[in-house]
This record gives sequence, C-alpha cells and structure tokens, in this order.
Amino acid sequence: MFRSYISIALLLFTLTSVKAEDIDELVNKECTRIGSKLGSVNIQDCLDVNLTATDGRSVNNAPILIKEYPPLQRRSPLGKVLLIGGIHGDEYSSVSIVFKWMKTLDQYHSGLFHWHVTPLLNPDGLLRRKSQRINANDVDLNRNFPMDDWENTALKHWETFTGRNPRYYPGKSPLSEPESTWLVNHINEFNPDVIVAVHAPHGIVDYDGPRDAPYKLGRLHLNLLGTYPGSLGNYAGIQRKIPVVTIELPYAGIMPTNKEINDIWRDMVRWLSENITEEAYIESHSINQDAAPS
Ligand SMILES: [Zn+2]
Repeated sequence: MFRSYISIALLLFTLTSVKAEDIDELVNKECTRIGSKLGSVNIQDCLDVNLTATDGRSVNNAPILIKEYPPLQRRSPLGKVLLIGGIHGDEYSSVSIVFKWMKTLDQYHSGLFHWHVTPLLNPDGLLRRKSQRINANDVDLNRNFPMDDWENTALKHWETFTGRNPRYYPGKSPLSEPESTWLVNHINEFNPDVIVAVHAPHGIVDYDGPRDAPYKLGRLHLNLLGTYPGSLGNYAGIQRKIPVVTIELPYAGIMPTNKEINDIWRDMVRWLSENITEEAYIESHSINQDAAPS
C-alpha cells in the first residue's frame, strides 16, 4: 500500500516536472523567435522576463505567453489590469514597448495593481518572414470579437465601409479564431478592472468604457477614433463596461524614445490609480471637487 503511494507520488512528480520542462522549452523557443524578429527586444531580454506559456495557442500552434505581477503581501492592489500588445502582427512597437514596461514592472512592481501582461496576442502575424496585421487565417483579431447581430454589424461594416479590405477581415463568425477566443476566456477568468491594448501607428490615445478617458499619456493625446464593430474596445469597453485604454504609438516600426516610453507609463499608472475602479474614480473626483474653490 505504502509502496503504491510512493509510486503514485513519483509518477505525479515526473509528470509535473516533465510538463514544467515542456513549458520552459516552449517559452525558450518562442523567445528565440521573438528576439530574432524584433529590433528592440533580443532573445535574452525576452527570457529575462520569465514569461509563462498559457494553454492558449495560435492557429499555427504558437503558445500565447503571459507574465503575472501578482498582489504583494504589504498592500492590497487597487485593481486588476490586463495589458496586451501585438494584437496586430505588423505593429512591432506595440510588442516591444510592452517588453520595456515588463522590465519596469520587474524592477518596480509594488503591488499597486495586479497585472496580467500578454506581450504578443498574434504570434503568427508577427513571427513570419513578412509580418502582417492579420492572423494565420487572415483574420483581423480586432474585428473578431462578439457583438449583437455580428453578421449585420462587423461583417457588414467590413463589406460596406472597408470595401472588403483583407487587412480588416473580421472572420467567418465571432470568435472564429483561437487567439480572440483565448483572450475572451482570459478576460472571463481574470476579470480585469481595466484593459490596456497597445497598437500603432495613429499616435493617439483612444478609449472605450464607462469612466473618464485619459486625456493625455506622454505626448499621446486623446482622440476618440470611433468604435469599430467586432473590436476589443466595442466588446469589452462598450458591451461589458470594462474600460479599454487603447494606446496608439506613433510608428509601427520605430520605438518612442526611452523618455517617452517612461512618460506614457507614468501617466498611465496615474490614470489607472484614479480610474481603475468605481471607488477609485469617485474618490479621486471628490478630492478634486474638495480642492476646487467654492
Ligand atoms: Zn493595431
């Protein structure tokens, strides 16, 4: 009896360690691909972040990687933030800047927020000879999210307003793609208070959601571009009332300066502190009112 316990324990140990090794191997392989592709992130930069492979896989079976910065013992976080880069595979800077911010968090994570960071939602779009916006099924992931009457909204919008531009193809049905499906499942599990999605190259801040938008992050000013049917902003911000901050960097292929990278981060953290939850919003706004001359 005792011996069989030992064998079961040994078997479980072997299974879990093999599994951990497999996941490490997956991350190493993916970091090699990412570091070889991006100019501003090398293989070691990627490995240093200690990403984990989720159970999410792209169309071509690449793992969707994540880094968690969990709550720390000394304080309870103000809220949960999901930070996403690389929804579009040809927006290199949107992936690289998320790696830079993870480096900042690695050094300074203070437990102010509970972060989940996904630097590259669309690995198949980025990690190919010629990077592309769309995924390996030629779908724009940022048009593949569910909404009411999707065929007559997202699909219709693509046909009518984009003239069937292949760069904006929303797919054959909502959540037809494994990457967008993984993201929705992850939103359901993590239940973030705010989502920050990084794109390029419009050089502005866009916002969808229930609270006051950030007016300015670094040198990027608020400019509401409108909410496209099937986009993450529409799905999470409008339908599910989870604030979605969209950071549109000025160039897809050129990184902002280090100062600008830090300025955007600082302003974003400040905005998050004041807006991440209903309570934070009310508190920061009542302070402002008290401070105002009557
Ligand atoms: Zn984009």
